[in-house]
Amino acid sequence: TPGPDIFSPSRRNSAGHDISSRGVLSVIETARNGDVPVNATSQLATQPSAGESVRAVNPATGEAFGTVTNASPEDVEQALAAARSWTAAIETRAAVLNRAADLYEANTGAFFNLLAREAGKTLADAVGEVREAVDFLRYYADQAAKHAENPKGIFTCISPWNFPLAIFSGQIAAALATGNGVLAKPAEQTPLIAALAVKLLHEAGVPREVLQLVLGKGSVVGAALTSDARVSGVAFTGSTQTALNIRKSMAVGTAPDAPLIAETGGLNAMIIDSTALPEQAARDVCASAFQSAGQRCSALRCLYVQEDIAEDFITMLQGIMDEYQLGNPWELTTDIGPVIDKAAKATIDQHVETARKDGRLIKQLPAPETGHFVGPALIKVSGIRDLEREIFGPVLHVATYRAEDLEKVIGEINSCGYGLTFGLHSRITKRVKEVSQAVHAGNIYVNRNQIGAVVGSQPFGGEGLSGTGPKAGGPNYLPRFKSRPAPGTYA
Ligand code: GLU
Repeated sequence: TPGPDIFSPSRRNSAGHDISSRGVLSVIETARNGDVPVNATSQLATQPSAGESVRAVNPATGEAFGTVTNASPEDVEQALAAARSWTAAIETRAAVLNRAADLYEANTGAFFNLLAREAGKTLADAVGEVREAVDFLRYYADQAAKHAENPKGIFTCISPWNFPLAIFSGQIAAALATGNGVLAKPAEQTPLIAALAVKLLHEAGVPREVLQLVLGKGSVVGAALTSDARVSGVAFTGSTQTALNIRKSMAVGTAPDAPLIAETGGLNAMIIDSTALPEQAARDVCASAFQSAGQRCSALRCLYVQEDIAEDFITMLQGIMDEYQLGNPWELTTDIGPVIDKAAKATIDQHVETARKDGRLIKQLPAPETGHFVGPALIKVSGIRDLEREIFGPVLHVATYRAEDLEKVIGEINSCGYGLTFGLHSRITKRVKEVSQAVHAGNIYVNRNQIGAVVGSQPFGGEGLSGTGPKAGGPNYLPRFKSRPAPGTYA
C-alpha cells in the first residue's frame, strides 16, 4: 500500500504522515460535509430478498451509523445462478476499469469519509488506500492487454477489512480484467465501502451479472461461495486459518484445479544491527509496527536489535511512541486510530495484559476510553518463537541478539513458517545481501520501514503460511485468474 510519502509537496506530522497536500485537504472538507451512503444491500443481478439486517459500527466511537442487509441463502443461490463471465473484448474491459478508476477519484471524498467511519482509517492511511485502489484498477486494465484470451469462469473474491477498498478492488479488478465474472464478498466489518465501490464499477460499465456484491458472514455466505461447482477460483486475503477453511470448502465442490489465490497472515521480523543509523531505524520500526494501528499483514511484529545498541535504541523507540496521538481518525493530528472492533480489541488487550502480568511489558501508551482503541505497546521477548500467533494490532515485541548469533536468528525467523515481510537495517552491504538471500519472505525491506507496497513497481505477497502467491500488483498476478485451458488445448 503506498504510504503517504508519495504525496508532495508535503509537511509532515510527528509520525511522518503528510498533512498538507492541498488537493487532499479540499477533498477532506468535501468528505466531512458531503453525503455518504450509510445503508447497503447486496448488489445482485436479481432482486435481493430481505436478508438479515445488521448495523454498521464506527470503531472510533463504538456507535452504529448505518445499516446493512446481508444476503439470504436464497440470494446466494440466485447470485450463483445469475453469474456469468465477462465476454466483452479486452479493450472494452480495460476501458471500463479505467473509467471506474476515474469514478473512484471523483468520489475520493466519500471514500475518505467511509474509510474513517467504517474502518477507522486515519486520513493519511485513507489517502494511500484510495490511491492504491485506483492504481490496481489502472494497472490490471493495462496488464489485461498483455494476456491472450482464455476460457473464463466465475471467481469468488473474499477481502479483508484492513484494506477494505484497495484489496477489495484489486482482487475484483484482476478477475474482471481477465474476463471472469465476480462474486465479491467483503469483510463483514466494511460492507458500506464495498457497496460504494461496486456501485461505481457498475456505473463504469461492468454488467450486473458479471459483478455481484454478496454481503454476509464468512461462515454462511463465504462458505457457500467457495464450495460451489459453478465457481472456478477463489481470491482471498485474510487470516491463514480462514485460507485453510476455504481450501477445505473448495474441496467439497469446485474443480480440483480451481486456484486459491491466498494472501494471508505473517509473523514479520526486522533485524537492526549495530551499524544501522539509529534515528532512522527507530522511526522505521515505529512506523512498521504502529502505523494503521498495526493492522497490516505486513506490519512488524518482532524486532531483533543487536545487543550492543539495544538499550539506547529501545529508549529511542519509547521517545517516538510518546509523540503519538491517538484519537478520532478524522483529525489531522491523529497518528493512530482505533482497531477494527470490540473483539479485536479484546484479543489484543488480553495479549498485552498477559505480558504485563509476566513483567515483560516495557511500555504502553494510554488509549482513549470510548471506542475500540488500543495503546501502542512494547513487549520484551526472547525471540519470535515466543509469539504463538499473529497479534493484529499496535504491539511490538522486542528481542536482542549477539552479533555472533545472527545466523541463528535468521534460522529462528524462517522456522516460524510464515514468510510475508522482513526488514533489515544495516550499512554493511555484504550483510544486507546475505541476510536478504537467507530469509524466507515475500517482501524484504532494507533500511526503510517494512510496510507498504507500490502497484506496478513493488508487488506484494508472501510464501509459506503467508500465502500462495503470486504477488498482487505485479506482472504474474493476472495469469492465475485465467482458467484452465479447455479440454484438448494447451496454455
Ligand atoms: N500491502 C499492504 C502493505 O504492505 C499490506 C496488505 C495487508 O495488510 O493485507 O501495507
